[in-house]
Amino acid sequence: MTDNGMTGVCLRGVRVIDPFRDVDSRDEDLTVVGGLIVPRDDPRARGCVEIDGRGLWLVPRIVDMHVHFREPGQTWKETIETGCQAAAHGGVTGVAPMPNTLPVVDTPELVEWEAQRGADLGLVHVYPIGAITRQSQGEALADLYFMHQKGARAFSDDGHPLTSSALMRAALTYAATLPAAIINHAEDRQLATGWCNEGPVAEQLGLAGTPEAAEAVMVWRDVMLAELTGGWLHEAHVSTVESLHAIRYAKAKQLGVTAEVTPHHLLLTDDALREWRYDPVTKVNPPLRSKATREALVKAVSDGDIDVIASDHAPHHADEKSLNYQEAPYGISGLETLLGATFTALLEPGLMRPLDLMRLLTVGPHRVLRLSYPGLIPGAAADLTLIDPQRRWVVDPGQFYSRGRNTPLAGRTLVGQAVATMVQGRWVMRDGEVLNAGVSNLHR
Ligand SMILES: [Zn+2]
Repeated sequence: MTDNGMTGVCLRGVRVIDPFRDVDSRDEDLTVVGGLIVPRDDPRARGCVEIDGRGLWLVPRIVDMHVHFREPGQTWKETIETGCQAAAHGGVTGVAPMPNTLPVVDTPELVEWEAQRGADLGLVHVYPIGAITRQSQGEALADLYFMHQKGARAFSDDGHPLTSSALMRAALTYAATLPAAIINHAEDRQLATGWCNEGPVAEQLGLAGTPEAAEAVMVWRDVMLAELTGGWLHEAHVSTVESLHAIRYAKAKQLGVTAEVTPHHLLLTDDALREWRYDPVTKVNPPLRSKATREALVKAVSDGDIDVIASDHAPHHADEKSLNYQEAPYGISGLETLLGATFTALLEPGLMRPLDLMRLLTVGPHRVLRLSYPGLIPGAAADLTLIDPQRRWVVDPGQFYSRGRNTPLAGRTLVGQAVATMVQGRWVMRDGEVLNAGVSNLHR
């Protein structure tokens, strides 16, 4: 534990799951010196700190490409610091915060500020996403070129669907020249007038529901515009059967279309509303869907039709989530359950090979954000997570580093948990404890 970077670290007997090289290999050793992977016989590895990794998986560069950190503007919900701590705690080595802060991250200055804030914290990599339109109001394109120059990895008005088809066309056309992906939150707001999924559960509880079509009509529109423009469309938090048809259509035509699903849509259904009654802890957008839709999402992921699993980490203060169902804000605090929920939904039932699953948390987001990583080879940055895939643990939001404790997984047993997170050769989390780079831990 005293080591933090300069002395080498030798991880012994781990199962290396490296989707960047298509490798899944048991009983491996890996040596890290000076922030980099080095050959085992590297002279600098002498005297390294030995770590027994038997029974653990070692996975490089887990990136959660859809998080909300609320800074600037709503730091009572989350800050970049607490968000990065939550990421490290969850076994995530990089995050892409959405720009729907106050103010909206729609200028090169704000992109640069956010990237610098992330770098100063020295916890996990922060990859800013810039707004597509000014203030995400859907009226005029923001300055995509200069935001991209300052480090914006993609563009999104997430939280707000980009309603204007003409502007979506322009955004896809323009971003393709950078090149960068346009990430859309697909939702027809004139159809999406409910608080939860339209169906028997909504009826039983007397809550207004939103039909799946509210999402799917816009996903289809977006796919058609991706086809028209040749641009790169990434569809955020896909949650309907018909959206999956659109994604499959786009892939069959080899369009530049990628898609993401959240762990909560893979693990939960609107039955959670029966369990939690009118507690808005289950209120999320897009809403938790029916059992049949959940099964279709799980199948799409296990069939390889989905590129990314991302948490849509949306922390809120307990007071806000104590409002009634209609008034409470949408969102689930998801960074610290990302791995556990995903493993519980897909690995525990034996639906996917670990290597295929980890691709969605590593290679997938790298592709969309246009990040490059060579895999665990000598010279590569030591950004890695040690995971105990067998560990059963009960979700206790009181243990979260995130300021948002809002999760319908509270009290639930998940299988699989990160036990250590390393970024650039430095431990940022070990045994559940986040190790700050000399920054005050204000939260815990
Ligand atoms: Zn969204």
